[in-house]
Amino acid sequence: MTNPSDLADAYARPASEVLTALDATATGLSSSEAAARLSRHGPNSLPGAKPRPAILRLLAQFNNALIYFMLAGAGAAAALGHYVDAGVILAVVIVNAIVGFLQEGKAESALNAIRDMIAPQASVLRDGRRISVGMADLVPGDVVLIEAGDRVPADLRLISARNLLVDEAILTGESVASTKGVDPVAAGAALGDRRPMAFSGTLVSAGQGSGAVTATGTRTQIGRISTLLHEVEPLTTPLLRQINAFAHRFTLLAFVGAALIFAFAVSLRGYAWDDALMAVVALAVGLVPEGLPAVITITLAIGVQRMAARRAVIRRLPAVETLGATSIICSDKTGTLTRNEMTVGRVVTADGVSVVQGAGYDPTGHDFTPEPTARGLLRAGLLCNDAELNPGTWKVEGDPMEGALIAAAMKAGLDPATERAARRLDAIPFDAQHRFMATLHDMPGQGRVMLVKGAPERIMAMCARQASEAGTQVLDHTYWSDRIAETGREGERVLGYATKPMPDGTTRIDFPDVESGLTFLGLTGFIDPPRPEAVAAIAECHRAGIDVRMITGDHAETATAIARQLGLAPDPQVLTGKDLDAIPDSGFADAVARTQVFARTSPEHKLRIVRALQSRGNVVAMTGDGVNDAPSLKQADVGIAMGIKGTEAAKEAAEIVLMDDNFASIVAAVHEGRTVHDNIRKVIAWTLPTNGGEALTVIMAILLNFALPMTPVQILWVNLLLAATLGLVLAFEPSEPGVMARRPRKSGAGLLTPFTVWRIILVSVIFMAISLAVFFWTLGQGRDIEVARTMVVNTLVVLEIFYLFNIRYLHMTSFTLTGVKGTGPVLGAIAVVVVGQLAFTYLPVMNRIFESRPLTLLDGIVIIVIGVLSLVVLEIEKHLLRDRFREE
Ligand code: ATP
Repeated sequence: MTNPSDLADAYARPASEVLTALDATATGLSSSEAAARLSRHGPNSLPGAKPRPAILRLLAQFNNALIYFMLAGAGAAAALGHYVDAGVILAVVIVNAIVGFLQEGKAESALNAIRDMIAPQASVLRDGRRISVGMADLVPGDVVLIEAGDRVPADLRLISARNLLVDEAILTGESVASTKGVDPVAAGAALGDRRPMAFSGTLVSAGQGSGAVTATGTRTQIGRISTLLHEVEPLTTPLLRQINAFAHRFTLLAFVGAALIFAFAVSLRGYAWDDALMAVVALAVGLVPEGLPAVITITLAIGVQRMAARRAVIRRLPAVETLGATSIICSDKTGTLTRNEMTVGRVVTADGVSVVQGAGYDPTGHDFTPEPTARGLLRAGLLCNDAELNPGTWKVEGDPMEGALIAAAMKAGLDPATERAARRLDAIPFDAQHRFMATLHDMPGQGRVMLVKGAPERIMAMCARQASEAGTQVLDHTYWSDRIAETGREGERVLGYATKPMPDGTTRIDFPDVESGLTFLGLTGFIDPPRPEAVAAIAECHRAGIDVRMITGDHAETATAIARQLGLAPDPQVLTGKDLDAIPDSGFADAVARTQVFARTSPEHKLRIVRALQSRGNVVAMTGDGVNDAPSLKQADVGIAMGIKGTEAAKEAAEIVLMDDNFASIVAAVHEGRTVHDNIRKVIAWTLPTNGGEALTVIMAILLNFALPMTPVQILWVNLLLAATLGLVLAFEPSEPGVMARRPRKSGAGLLTPFTVWRIILVSVIFMAISLAVFFWTLGQGRDIEVARTMVVNTLVVLEIFYLFNIRYLHMTSFTLTGVKGTGPVLGAIAVVVVGQLAFTYLPVMNRIFESRPLTLLDGIVIIVIGVLSLVVLEIEKHLLRDRFREE
């Protein structure tokens, strides 16, 4: 075999010559040969973007205004000789950085693993069969099939091309798609003019074709110019940016507030300036939510992982948030709401209806003898067909509907191998735009014949006559319209068939050949049952205040029947693409809002429908699979592509890819999206008031001129202890039981909802009041100030633990068995905190560093009782106010 580098001029040589040079044939390689070539040439992949070195990722953790602020504080403390304080601040910074580094690292590798789940596949001929293989497994000489929506997987010398348009902007910068063909062009032609080549990485925008792989991996054109195709998705979202901005403002405020308090303490309260400085540094450090951005990133990443576990792969992180606010889901029908496991249930001809028995693709045991017209129709279905049905396993390779046609033909006694010996000379592939497919055959004893199948009304429009046992007759429109409606009402998908004899010697068919002069053969009805899990998911959506709309290319009757079976609406309202076109712009949004089922729509309709729904303030999730769905997927708030039947173009335009094409997975993702949003709110609602409570306590002492209830270094200790423990666990919270029983949150509603703001103020004040009460009560007993301060630190930590239990359930009481039991992360974090506090209180070395003192058992009991009481009070408050703050 020629070295692939000698094929640089493949575009200038006939395809047959290139195949010979590649030691290959148009029917593909054998799998053993492909394996041998793979070990010789290496995988068809480009080196990915280098991961950032760990040390840079660690350093990035320090590159943050909040951290600079803390480091400045540590510097100030060290300069003043307060080495313990400086050490503790540094410890806080380092613990934070390590937690952030480890968790973000985990998040990044999880996201990368998830991205691999949607690695593209290629259709290739191996051992004379069409199979899907991972892109990396392609080798020179492989024959690859490409169609609209695919990314070309390797450099190909085209062997066949039908209306093939390829967008080569990625290579040539040319935005208009290039027309492809098979004839050689002059040697030396520029890249953009090499018509018989399809280059790796370019996008097929229309048509179909096949080609032999001439180069793989770094030897492809794209591999030569760039090795950086895989951009690394930044771990950021609008929400995260909002939070970062908020944290910066907060830091500035803390800084200004600290400066004011410093001035106040020195000038009016007679503090020594270095003591005052240490107090305000500790205060500011305690107030700064330095861990918040990392915790929220982690929350999002956990959401992404949970969604992936439920078969929804997030391609763009912001979708995690948007999903939770989704108010309308627009879904395809076939394969998403239904199983896409088709069975021909009936064959209708001018002579009558034959019922076909047996579900699934296994034709054995359900033989029937159709009348001759029906037999002709089934033969047309078998030949005008690109699918393969594997005998034995009865698995379909290709379109399930076409697979069902093979099974039906076999039940009628037709043998696919014998029938398909009728050579196919040409084909017009199926396209959602024109809704039919046509093939040209050389039929033994009949000469050239064209066979067409497609949407029945589309096929009928091209027929003047119909076939029957008595010969051809004038097409009986009423008869067929009735049969179509009847079949559709059963929820069956209807397909029509027609035939046309072609002049001898015809080798090519084009649209004008199909447009007229066809003879109608009849219809088939396909049973495609609704997915049972979709029925449950739709009911769940209704409880969750989410509307579901069906947008399908299928017939209105079929779509409505399926919608009814799915429980989409008791009496689904339907509009067809034609109806939509007739509605004036002014009434469009209203009409769309009233309609649950959109039938016989084209991708352009989808775009208009999304826009109309969005104009009414909805957050719209929309599914799509075809190359032409890309604009509507981009327009939707959450674009969802099908992982199995979706094109690469749709996946690239979407925020989410469904691994199983299943509607229920969308609803599961919405469920997780709501949980993520809840958890982020919980993180904020826990972090801010606990910081606030500590700070207020110290501020009160300075303002009212009494001894500090906590020393600066004790404030820093609390910060250190909680940063990697309680501060983190809310990111791991499971969903609250009622997540899907409430209405979607309003789009654009910020995180600091009135209830959260109220909570931050209330809890800060309660924590301060309790801390001060404990402080003075202990002092009142004539005990040392060190003991009183140890009491305050322990009380605050215990309050924060109990508050964590309260915040874990924002929408219901925390006093349930599961609520009280907590989760693994919660209990683990509490264990660390308890051990830390015991050390703080009883270890002599800690007593020296932090000026703490051992407490009595009774002290401990008092502190715990205070914690329990605070939980009771906050639970009552939550219960009373939950309804008042309904907007959330
Ligand atoms: P959905 O949009 O819900 O997935 P759909 O699969 O029916 O629905 P399309 O794939 O756009 O949507 O198909 C539209 C119509 O075209 C079908 O209802 C059918 O009548 C016809 N059709 C689909 N596939 C083929 C095919 N392979 N050959 C001929 N006609 C087809």
